[in-house]
Amino acid sequence: MIENLIGGQRIASGSGRTQPVYNPATGAAIDELGLSSVDEVNQAVAAAQAAFPAWSNTPPLKRAAIMFKFNELIEKHSADIAREISREHGKTHDDALGEVQRGKEVVEFVCGIPQMLKGEFSRNVGPAIDSFSDRQALGVCAGITPFNFPAMVPLWMYPVAIACGNTFILKPSERDPSAANFVANLLWEAGLPEGVLNVVHGDKTAVDTLLDHPDVKALSFVGSTPIAEYVYTRGTAAGKRVQALGGAKNHMVVMPDADMDQAVDALMGAAFGSAGERCMAISVAVPVGEDTANRLVEKLRPKVEGLKIGPADDSDAEMGPVITKQAKEKIVGLIDSGVKAGADLVVDGRNISLQGYEEGYFVGGTLFDNVTTNMDIYKEEIFGPVLSVVRANEYSEAVQMINDHEYGNGTAIFTRDGDAARAFSNDIEVGMVGVNVPIPVPVAYHSFGGWKRSIFGDHSIYGPEGVHFYTRLKTITARWPTGIKDGAVFAFPTT
Ligand code: NAD
Repeated sequence: MIENLIGGQRIASGSGRTQPVYNPATGAAIDELGLSSVDEVNQAVAAAQAAFPAWSNTPPLKRAAIMFKFNELIEKHSADIAREISREHGKTHDDALGEVQRGKEVVEFVCGIPQMLKGEFSRNVGPAIDSFSDRQALGVCAGITPFNFPAMVPLWMYPVAIACGNTFILKPSERDPSAANFVANLLWEAGLPEGVLNVVHGDKTAVDTLLDHPDVKALSFVGSTPIAEYVYTRGTAAGKRVQALGGAKNHMVVMPDADMDQAVDALMGAAFGSAGERCMAISVAVPVGEDTANRLVEKLRPKVEGLKIGPADDSDAEMGPVITKQAKEKIVGLIDSGVKAGADLVVDGRNISLQGYEEGYFVGGTLFDNVTTNMDIYKEEIFGPVLSVVRANEYSEAVQMINDHEYGNGTAIFTRDGDAARAFSNDIEVGMVGVNVPIPVPVAYHSFGGWKRSIFGDHSIYGPEGVHFYTRLKTITARWPTGIKDGAVFAFPTT
């Protein structure tokens, strides 16, 4: 049974409500997860609240020293963490290692937290008056994370919150919860005091308890858009600071002058890596002009047909299964709907079966051509290995299409034309833009966040925006020496 980590104790939930955790490559139940009760979540909040005064007053350099140690431990255990990820998520080992590396980079970033928390000071803002401001921790913060990056997305949140002096409660995805436990244990091993990081596993009950609890001051969420919107609405109504990152439909524009081989390779990795289960996956290719589209589809077809699919421990596999039986059914249902709506199914991944893995949740690489913007396969986030080609006659049509889409997480343009690339970066209503870069996930010292219905709240996640999200500004105006006597002043103070 997978355990909660509350106030320094590792105890499985005793709520009596449980659910199995599956190996998606075989379909076999491999573990059991207790779904925490309201009381158990309240205990975690109480532990985090009790740890806050001492932790927030711990010098930032000492907090950073723990993060340095944590970083070393992640490095040492990268392969173990990757195995934990793959066992429950299904992604290939190399892909899981990449996830660990990108999460670790956030830990490296917060090793410099003393520098980022340094305030501003102004001498003599008035007679013998100085003013200084700095950013202080909020209190207990919480994070709710999705299945698709079970190690990295938690690392987008709690290292930043904790380095800033907050205490934290993580509620990982119930579909692949073990990697989050493994990494949290490393932070304890690094010397984190009890109660500063707590992990409670569970479902809606746990999330709602965190959303309503008056001692939770800020909440980070990453997951699907309907739940992100719900979390944002309910959390802000309860007076909390909330950042809620949602779903996506990421387009890649291929201009007529693009290096077609480079564009095709980029599309293959971005559309089919991790079986398309990335919020920055490219799920729509937009070739500009008929000739570009014909060349693109011609080159894509054999590559999609040749995709190597297998379990995570198959070193030849380029992608693994999708997360659950329900996810597979949803993806297959959407492919059916694309066929019914009249799109051209160039490569059909619906009926693949792998010898020895017949019960696994595998979907083959799927390619649609001549998709139009009114089709469900265009409008919805499929979150599977399905790439749709939507042909555009002109560059302006491609830009308009992307700007009209409800999501605005990531996008990319492939071109050799600097003017086109620059205009695209400027005009596109999307938060993260790649120029000849298919998956433009910002590095840890920038910040990650989409636009439109891919985010709810004012702050992107990690990087400088993360530090702002998990701190609040305090400005102190002080007069020394105290000997000055100028009597009571009733007018508004000026210098
Ligand atoms: P999900 O929304 O189903 O679940 C996310 C979290 O919300 C989980 O911890 C889950 O337990 C909780 N949850 C689910 N239903 C809930 C409910 N009714 N009430 C309260 N809490 C609930 O998302 P998922 O399927 O785990 O992850 C995939 C989604 O996440 C995709 O839409 C993907 O685009 C998105 N995602 C976005 C980003 C980003 O940065 N924008 C990153 C990764 C994933």
